[in-house]
Amino acid sequence: MEQDKTYDRLQELKEKLDFYSYQYYTLDKPTISDYDYDMLYRELETIEGAHPEWITADSPTQRVGHKISGGFNKYTHDRPMLSLGDVFNDDELREFDRRVRADLGEEAPQYVVELKIDGLAINLIYENGIFVRGVTRGDGIVGEDVTANIRTIKTIPLKINSASPHLEIRGEVYMPVSAFDALNKQRVEDELEPFANPRNAAAGSLRQLDPQITAQRKLSFFAYAVGGTAGIDIKSQEELLDDLKAFRFHVNKEHKTFDNMEEVIAFIHTWDKRRNTLPYATDGIVVKVNSFAQQERLGNTVKIPKWAIAYKFPPERAETKVLGISVTVGRTGVLTPAADLEPVRLAGTTVKRATLHNEDYIAEKDIRIGDTVIIQKAGEIIPEVIGPVPAARTGAEEIFVMPARCPGCGEPVVRREGEAATRCVNPQCPAVIAEKVAHFVSRDAMNIDGLGSAIVRQLLERRLIHDVADIYALEKDELTVLDGFGEKSADNLLQAVEESKHVGLARVLFALGIRFVGAKAGRILANRFGSVEALADASLEELTAVDEIGPRIAESVRAWFVNTDNQDLVRRLGAAGVDLTAEKKIAEGTSFSGEIVVLTGRLETMSRKEAQRAVENRGGKCTGSVTGKTTLVVAGTEPGSKYEKAQALGTPVISEEEFVAWLQRE
Ligand code: NAD
Repeated sequence: MEQDKTYDRLQELKEKLDFYSYQYYTLDKPTISDYDYDMLYRELETIEGAHPEWITADSPTQRVGHKISGGFNKYTHDRPMLSLGDVFNDDELREFDRRVRADLGEEAPQYVVELKIDGLAINLIYENGIFVRGVTRGDGIVGEDVTANIRTIKTIPLKINSASPHLEIRGEVYMPVSAFDALNKQRVEDELEPFANPRNAAAGSLRQLDPQITAQRKLSFFAYAVGGTAGIDIKSQEELLDDLKAFRFHVNKEHKTFDNMEEVIAFIHTWDKRRNTLPYATDGIVVKVNSFAQQERLGNTVKIPKWAIAYKFPPERAETKVLGISVTVGRTGVLTPAADLEPVRLAGTTVKRATLHNEDYIAEKDIRIGDTVIIQKAGEIIPEVIGPVPAARTGAEEIFVMPARCPGCGEPVVRREGEAATRCVNPQCPAVIAEKVAHFVSRDAMNIDGLGSAIVRQLLERRLIHDVADIYALEKDELTVLDGFGEKSADNLLQAVEESKHVGLARVLFALGIRFVGAKAGRILANRFGSVEALADASLEELTAVDEIGPRIAESVRAWFVNTDNQDLVRRLGAAGVDLTAEKKIAEGTSFSGEIVVLTGRLETMSRKEAQRAVENRGGKCTGSVTGKTTLVVAGTEPGSKYEKAQALGTPVISEEEFVAWLQRE
């Protein structure tokens, strides 16, 4: 029994890590922190360590990176580009040292210590001194040929003083902090999502199909390794770094050589704070055995060298002040307090706000207005308040009290027994309605452009909308009188409203904001029941019988549909012409149901027509251009601007190989 549970956990970890890796490597858009990822990875390693019979070749512990996506030509590295094993504290470094010494026997190692630059590894190929090809690490064996983009990086020499017929120089392409800040500022202005960290920004920039975009991104490069070499004789890492410098590569100057691990550890700790002052991001320190002969004797696993290890810095923390605690109302009516912070720099971005979740959280941590607090990024992503620094208190700090009335409508709020959340229960609360509308019109829901918060506020003030169904009754002359709205924006909005009627039931279900019904559950329910009537009539048993629909979602769906206000809302949406049905399942299969697919580039194994038919026969739709509604892009070789657009919009892109695997999923 216990064994079964462990096995299930192993499967779950493999799936999760695969998914996070896909977001991280392919989409350059991580959703959890590196630290959290590393902890899940360790858990998987521990289970596999206890059950080696469960290790499969596709386990994340056996593979470098992630399967490479289409879009670029593939290139097989002469020698695999490996990842690095990692450690998180001094004792683990000592353990690494013990292993190295045990394997080397009499001979003592020297260690070269380098900063771990938070970028992406790249392989540069020089033939007779001329740069001929630049390739990403990819899955370690095969990478993506990004030569044209590499040529735009000014710190990479296009010619070096070497007569070697084939020389592979490896190192890290990174984005300096200043360029990262400027890029993210611009992206926010352009209403694009900012990159989570400089590493993802560098990867996203290098994997652009248009080198002109890469050129604008101010990438840079540090060299630290060689791959396949011919006619070059180097004996140690130290010597290699000197040679790379002589070739006029940028070599990070912070490297040092030590005779024992205690010196290494002392050196690493000098970087605990200092690393924040560097003009580029580092996420750790790499410790390498200096002698190449010893490196060879120690060897590699399939994934990592046994002669090197990465010491990862703990998640970055910073101290700042709570200037105030403000409360906002969400679409479910829940009041969420957030700390307004004195702006502070943390892990690559400036943090001004952090959620405090609810009243209990604030009380438990004893966070007061005016407190000095420690914050940390849960990943390099969401800032969180760890707790106050009580010693810094002056006595002027104020204890936070949850408002008794909703900040959106002024009505009394309630906190139900056993719940941590405080809610506004006024169905007419303008703040709640505004949030519901914002969700309803969002890209993954009804995708109605042009209904920003300022417009929604005016529509609410003028009592033109009371709920989301009213959006379909808006008239042009009601819109043109709004501040910031002209003829053209009114026409565009009405057009978007009209188009939204055809997004189909799956998205409508998500847009309605039924608790626990996200985009995926919306798709599953729409496919299974086919129409809103059938779903509204479904019993709890029928709902829970659906694959992937658990009792929590089932109960929430039931509770939503028995509410007469909700029934009325659905009726009005239907009367307005919103399509409340899902395309009927196609006999051949359902593996693409709900997907809106765009094909780009040349497909090797089938014609475009065949690919299109294959998608449609499996319940998907193929369209000609990438828009916010596109759910998937299939990139063959030499894909066009659609690929780029997909990257800009964050639409998932898969290669032909992945596409074929998907077709076979039934
Ligand atoms: P890694 O980043 O832990 O270490 C290997 C890499 O370090 C090398 O490939 C190279 O690119 C880089 N490096 C930088 N400076 C170096 C130097 N001086 N010498 C040698 N190498 C140097 O390993 P990885 O395989 O690139 O990525 C795995 C890590 O990525 C995970 O441990 C995790 O932190 C992160 N990750 C995060 C997510 C997420 O969702 N947040 C998902 C997948 C992976």
